[in-house]
Amino acid sequence: MASYELIDHEFDVVVVGAGGAGLRATLGMAEQGFNTACVTKVFPTRSHTVAAQGGIAASLKNMGPDSWQWHMYDTVKGSDWLGDNDAMEYLAREAPAAVYELEHYGVPFSRTEDGRIYQRPFGGHMTEFGDGPPVQRTCAAADRTGHAILHTLYGQSLRHNAQFFIEYFAIDLIMGDDGACQGIIAWKLDDGTLHRFRAKLVVLATGGYGRAYFSATSAHTCTGDGNGMVARAGLPLQDMEFVQFHPTGIYGAGCLITEGARGEGGYLVNSEGERFMERYAPNAKDLASRDVVSRCMTLEIREGRGVGPKKDHIFLHLDHLDPKVLHERLPGISESAKIFAGVDLTREPIPVLPTVHYNMGGIPANYHGEVIDPARGGPDATVPGLMAVGEAACASVHGANRLGSNSLTDLVVFGRAAALRAGKVLDRKARIPSVNRLADERILARFDRLRHANGSVPTAELRETMQRSMQEDAAVFRTAESLKSGVERMSALYPGLKDLKVHDRSLIWNSDLVETLELENLMASAITTVVSAEARKESRGAHAHEDFPDRDDVNWRKHTLAWVDDDGRVRLDYRPVHVDPLTPEAEGGIPLKKIAPKARVY
Ligand SMILES: Cc1cc2nc3c(=O)[nH]c(=O)nc-3n(C[C@H](O)[C@H](O)[C@H](O)COP(=O)(O)OP(=O)(O)OC[C@H]3O[C@@H](n4cnc5c(N)ncnc54)[C@H](O)[C@@H]3O)c2cc1C
Repeated sequence: MASYELIDHEFDVVVVGAGGAGLRATLGMAEQGFNTACVTKVFPTRSHTVAAQGGIAASLKNMGPDSWQWHMYDTVKGSDWLGDNDAMEYLAREAPAAVYELEHYGVPFSRTEDGRIYQRPFGGHMTEFGDGPPVQRTCAAADRTGHAILHTLYGQSLRHNAQFFIEYFAIDLIMGDDGACQGIIAWKLDDGTLHRFRAKLVVLATGGYGRAYFSATSAHTCTGDGNGMVARAGLPLQDMEFVQFHPTGIYGAGCLITEGARGEGGYLVNSEGERFMERYAPNAKDLASRDVVSRCMTLEIREGRGVGPKKDHIFLHLDHLDPKVLHERLPGISESAKIFAGVDLTREPIPVLPTVHYNMGGIPANYHGEVIDPARGGPDATVPGLMAVGEAACASVHGANRLGSNSLTDLVVFGRAAALRAGKVLDRKARIPSVNRLADERILARFDRLRHANGSVPTAELRETMQRSMQEDAAVFRTAESLKSGVERMSALYPGLKDLKVHDRSLIWNSDLVETLELENLMASAITTVVSAEARKESRGAHAHEDFPDRDDVNWRKHTLAWVDDDGRVRLDYRPVHVDPLTPEAEGGIPLKKIAPKARVY
């Protein structure tokens, strides 16, 4: 093995990722005086959060009645009773404070006539514990909310003197013999140097793994790197079978048309011109939750009522809306529809199709952001020195299905929670962990092996085969047969990682090697997704299993844990869902009968 020189850095806290979650955690850590580094493979404001359009959910009550209890109820119901009630309560209760904080930091929210934050309706967010009409809960900066949040948080992080390491690719976690995390090793992409960051605390905020699928709304950088690092550290991933398909990706291109479009009055039609959602969800209609709408669209297409020459997609109408509303509230998607579908949405419908959008599963964490490893002593035992927040984490606030606009809330609420927790538990006087040569060597040996990989399969080829397999076998609807095929295909592909061909051996701007490191992370995410899905013999949220169409709370209201080894062998286990909320009913907490499992109708 070639020897690599490591450049050393010591910090109290290293945050990996500069999306909404990473930046909110970085800012919170730096604000409390922790010496904080933020390491990111792309420039902070190019993180996928920048693409978030529709908004951020919080019960501000600016545009009608609402309460955090209603928000919690909707989240519990949206999760199809797989989310952890303590975490979901924390999300809904803290959301208004987190949004006002963003406002004070400078996020340019759209405004109501009287100057308050504008809020639009979104799927699955209802009044009166689901019994009333849709609530206006989603706070928006036109249809560029993520863009506004990300730029504001980056500015605030710089203000508090967090140190940024931009275009550094985190390769792996440095894990001590006692199982504690001691830091990371990263590769600086523009000059080829390798860096060792030793820290008392590492926070993973690396985002989702949408790119394990062929058609996804996520950026090409959403490759589940944190999941891969955690899996290689011998830790489990949780609830990976739950992958959200967004109902309205642009047909062919996959780019997102925000649910806010339906929030502003848009609706879906089939080839007969019928607003079919009225048939499936008489109350919420086009604003039923995402898993429900995606399934209904797929059923319409299957039954021959799709639109277009191949009858393989659906139309989204916005042409009845006032052009002024489109211009003010949805300028970004007006542009996307023009560029990616050649459609003027003031005159024509947009061709849309359910497209992979969000990963409910990820690194198991509690509502403080601490990473969970049951092997350390029980289902809620935590890993010292390691936290995970944002889409990379599974806290679990989204359970089996995430409600639209609850992810941005998740980022800022739990990014902040991680910093608050660090303020309580991190020993300011403790020493930074010393050098761990054995762990460093293991990480560098893997890096070197991939850099010099001289097998027969180009990285891009294996990646595309994986993406197609996932798209075909672990889709909106799943069957025992498709999942069996998925497990077999992914298991057959896994050894391909040992037969990769990397053409570029250099260390400077070597995109071939970056993509190879990312592919290993994607493969770990993909195989745990299909193996976990194959095992789950029920339908819940985004996991719609045609051979087991009902939800089975007796046997399956539990979180899946999946470990994957270097050869792609997956081991599964389960941990209980947290059913207790944080606040007792008598003290203003949610009525317990409301969060008890029941049938999920919209
Ligand atoms: C098109 C689109 C629209 C959306 N709209 C909404 C919406 O309106 N409302 C809502 O609530 N949710 C929305 N979502 C979901 C939401 O935006 C995402 O879940 C969320 O932004 C994820 O944020 P994050 O901070 O976890 O990760 P990301 O924003 O994906 O950031 C990941 C960060 O990790 C870094 N990173 C990753 N791997 C490495 C590595 N190996 N080394 C160093 N750095 C690394 C990256 O550089 C990046 O900074 C949308 C998602 C998409 C794709």
